[in-house]
Amino acid sequence: MKYCILFVFLWILQACDSNIKQEQEKKIIATLFPQYDFTRQIVQDKVKVVLLLPPGVEPHSYEPTPRDIIEITKSSVFVYTGEHMEPWAQKIVQQSRGKSILILDASKGIELMSEEDHEGHGPGCTHHHKDPHIWLDPVLAQKMVDTIFQGITSVFPEHRDFFQKNAQGYKEQLERLHQKNKETLSKAKSKKILYAGHFAFGYFAQRYGLEHISPYKGFSPNAEPTPGRILELLNNIKDFHINTIFYEELLDPKIARVLSEETGCNIVPLHAAHNVSKEESASGMTYIKIMENNLKSLQEGLGCHE
Ligand SMILES: [Zn+2]
Repeated sequence: MKYCILFVFLWILQACDSNIKQEQEKKIIATLFPQYDFTRQIVQDKVKVVLLLPPGVEPHSYEPTPRDIIEITKSSVFVYTGEHMEPWAQKIVQQSRGKSILILDASKGIELMSEEDHEGHGPGCTHHHKDPHIWLDPVLAQKMVDTIFQGITSVFPEHRDFFQKNAQGYKEQLERLHQKNKETLSKAKSKKILYAGHFAFGYFAQRYGLEHISPYKGFSPNAEPTPGRILELLNNIKDFHINTIFYEELLDPKIARVLSEETGCNIVPLHAAHNVSKEESASGMTYIKIMENNLKSLQEGLGCHE
């Protein structure tokens, strides 16, 4: 009789345990486009990967809805950029207690830069925020791929070899992108990227020996640039003979237009890859394609021809 009770008890425990596991869907949710793309390059058709941000939505002011949070806590893996990009991720951590979901910080092991670290070219922000835009440096992007690979392999060990092969192949593509950037940008006649968008290309500029200038304070586009700051940029354009102003995707390029009207500069797009538009998503846009297009823009705007 005793054994029988014990057996029933164990059976109930086991049933509960498998219920908990069944609750988690075999699905990976990624907050922003870069880690969404990195993850799908690794897992391909083995696991469903979902991009949390709706197409075309600006990510810095984004907060998940209660429904999003329920969806996230039902998934197997949640990949986010880090606490400085998604401060609300703490909520997910709290809501996921007791569930077998892996919460993956893609910036793990990467030392984030603050405004001072950007060698005095930072956005002049009074808060001690760290710059979350690590993905725009293809060398740091390779680290993110490693972190994502390790995390999802621990959840889906049955696909280890397949994931490893894909992660390796993808990192080689990122390395080729980096080498191409390095070679091309070393010929740049102008070393200044005058970006009418928010300060997103700090890591990129640092990697390739360029200077990044933005009218926005802080690392997000949430506070509009002041007229004084725009005037400063106008002076920069004249003093340094800048002939191109780069503008950001997903934001109205009105600052770029104003500066261009005042100075006769060209305006050229530079995509910071946080998210993609509906059209880009439908056309199969990838992180690598975005970065290749950026290199073309920079080549034109900074004069990288021999
Ligand atoms: Zn940003």
